[in-house]
Amino acid sequence: MKKTLLVTGGAGFIGANFVHYWLKSNPDDSVIVLDALTYAGNIDNLASVQSLANFHFVHGDICDTDLVEKLLHEYQINTIVHFAAESHVDRSITGPDAFIETNIMGTYSLLKASKKVWIDLPKEQGRESVSHRFHHVSTDEVYGTLGPDDPAFREDTAYAPNSPYSASKAASDHLVRAYHHTYGLDVTTSNCSNNYGPYHFPEKLIPLIIANVLRNKPLPIYGDGQQIRDWLYVEDHARGIELVINKGRVGENYNIGGHNEWANIDIVKLICDKMDQAFATDPLLQKRFPLASQAIAGESQSLISYVTDRPGHDRRYAIDATKTNQELGYKPSESFETGIAKTLQWYLSNESWWKPLLIN
Ligand code: NAD
Repeated sequence: MKKTLLVTGGAGFIGANFVHYWLKSNPDDSVIVLDALTYAGNIDNLASVQSLANFHFVHGDICDTDLVEKLLHEYQINTIVHFAAESHVDRSITGPDAFIETNIMGTYSLLKASKKVWIDLPKEQGRESVSHRFHHVSTDEVYGTLGPDDPAFREDTAYAPNSPYSASKAASDHLVRAYHHTYGLDVTTSNCSNNYGPYHFPEKLIPLIIANVLRNKPLPIYGDGQQIRDWLYVEDHARGIELVINKGRVGENYNIGGHNEWANIDIVKLICDKMDQAFATDPLLQKRFPLASQAIAGESQSLISYVTDRPGHDRRYAIDATKTNQELGYKPSESFETGIAKTLQWYLSNESWWKPLLIN
């Protein structure tokens, strides 16, 4: 069936990568992006699809239920893929309000509009509810933190969110689940591990390290740097969501992850080494980034600077994606080696994208 997607948060990091991926692999479908263009949203992330006849961008807030209803009618949307969120844990600690508003109230607003347009109105008109899917994009952070030897998070791991960000995402997951059980909305939820790749906002670890090496600035590492995350290349997340939408069972959660656990400090050292190698073998890079003097000298790691840890910092996340693998045939296609190489190449080639976004 041809799909018309409403992609919320499609101008953000994962949303934009998802839109590119979807339009490439499903060229007959239509995609409408609804995005409020907060500090994390960037219309330039969608530049290469802007002129397509089957793509439309709407500047607006997911909390505006009337607008969402209007879009569902106007474009005859049959699939919502819900990325829009406040997503940065540090910001959730200093200012949780926006997280409660967008992540909880915004998700509620989308659910309310979907139920009305897809279920209630058709029924009032004596019709069956229209065929639809509400796919909710969530995170592994809702499961809390793991000890070094604990088994990885499964879909039946109890929720234990520790930050205002993860608590707001957990609340939204519960609302999505409740709209399925109570009202029969056709929902699926995916819980994914840490993503990396093109268009990643440079306040996050991997792009920040790349940008700081290129500008010869300190590489800030929280605490002892031993926080472990499970990293997945962003296009592999997009493929996972596509599989869940096309083959996943309604009402189910699916974990998506890379079986790729790394301590933060080891990732930083890896990126430094890759950048040192790149500069050593490419004199053009030295010309383009004259400030990258440590990389040019082969000693980027000397920029590492330990800073006070984030309060309540979770130690370890790891995803067990067995269910998604066995039921849907999901497997990441990028290794960390190839994914990091692609990511580094993208940031080296797109300085005009990331430079204006840097705060320091
Ligand atoms: P992001 O911060 O890069 O992008 C969020 C997007 O949502 C931005 O374009 C922003 O403008 C938009 N937005 C924010 N508030 C809005 C509102 N009220 N109405 C409409 N649009 C609004 O986030 P991301 O890293 O791309 O994450 C996308 C989703 O994936 C989030 O739901 C996040 O919880 C989830 N997730 C992220 C990761 C990760 O590693 N980044 C991992 C797992 C899950």
